[in-house]
Amino acid sequence: MRGLYIHIPFCKSICSYCDFPKRLCDPKLYDKYIQRVIEELDYYENELKDIETVYIGGGTPNAISLEALEMLFKRIKPYLLNSKENSIELNPELVTEELCDLLFDYNFNRVSLGVETVDPESIKILNRHHDKETIKNAVHLLRYVGIYNINCDLIFGIPYTDLDILKDDLDFVTSLNPTHLSCYSLIIEDKTVLSYQVEKGKIEPLDDDLCADMYDFINDYLRKKGYKHYEVSNYAKLGYESIHNKLYWEEKEYLGIGAGASGFINKIRYTNHRGLNSYFDEFLDDCETITLEAEKNEFMMLGLRLVEGISITEYQKRYHNSPFDDFPVIIQLINRGLLEVFGDNIRIPENKLFLGNIVWSEFV
Ligand code: SF4
Repeated sequence: MRGLYIHIPFCKSICSYCDFPKRLCDPKLYDKYIQRVIEELDYYENELKDIETVYIGGGTPNAISLEALEMLFKRIKPYLLNSKENSIELNPELVTEELCDLLFDYNFNRVSLGVETVDPESIKILNRHHDKETIKNAVHLLRYVGIYNINCDLIFGIPYTDLDILKDDLDFVTSLNPTHLSCYSLIIEDKTVLSYQVEKGKIEPLDDDLCADMYDFINDYLRKKGYKHYEVSNYAKLGYESIHNKLYWEEKEYLGIGAGASGFINKIRYTNHRGLNSYFDEFLDDCETITLEAEKNEFMMLGLRLVEGISITEYQKRYHNSPFDDFPVIIQLINRGLLEVFGDNIRIPENKLFLGNIVWSEFV
């Protein structure tokens, strides 16, 4: 089973916290970019046979014109028709009836909406531009054409917020009854507008303990609303876990296409050039063959992002050895309460997932 990820690096405006590969929309560049993406897809033609999930991410895929999007969809139509899950990330402000019709016509069955927050002050801090009506309208239009599998992205830990503001965000987003929610803690990444504002003392980051309380609050709140917490930041109604994203955490193969995209195929991990000019000259920036040792580390590191953790039996089947023999650190982490054995699985206890970095770093 393989996934196909395609990156569209254009955005309508730049969010203050963003460090993804992206740039402001430039209509003169869309067509050239999509042509280049199609050339890259042609280059990987032989690897595209077993595609079972397609994910178009960004950037903001719906920041480009419908014509440019359709040019891409025509090229990947065979995979869209045969895959189990076709997802696309959308900016709710740019969701139109015509876009929803186009998505439905090309068999998209899952949409991820960048909601992030509906608190007006937080929206300003993040430099986003929507309001509640925009989000409701986008959800309505998607459902109207028959796209019901909808994820909403939320961000918590935004400066100057508290548990009441977080609860308002959760109340609003769950009132829309999405099938899936991704809740990310705000990270102040280097070289972003937000990090500059923090350095200059213009914005004060939220206290770490409050962020941890917020995470516990979200887990509790969403459980009561019928969402299963299945990955550090991801929650789904029964049967709606993201098939594509699980490929990453289960260390399965995927092709990454487009500027800044990464892939993992035939034991090779690669990353494309982030800059458009470099990507137009040459796709690959970096690639390395993953050794057996590195693969085992990745299996643990990625699998321990899942709430159910890694299967001991699966590990033994893949690597003909016990994870306890390969990683004596597992016992130390169990003794510190940061890992536990539950049935056939090794996992991070749910109330310690917020400290996952401590555990994952042991397997880097
Ligand atoms: S829409 Fe997404 S990719 Fe674009 S600037 Fe905002 S966070 Fe970054």
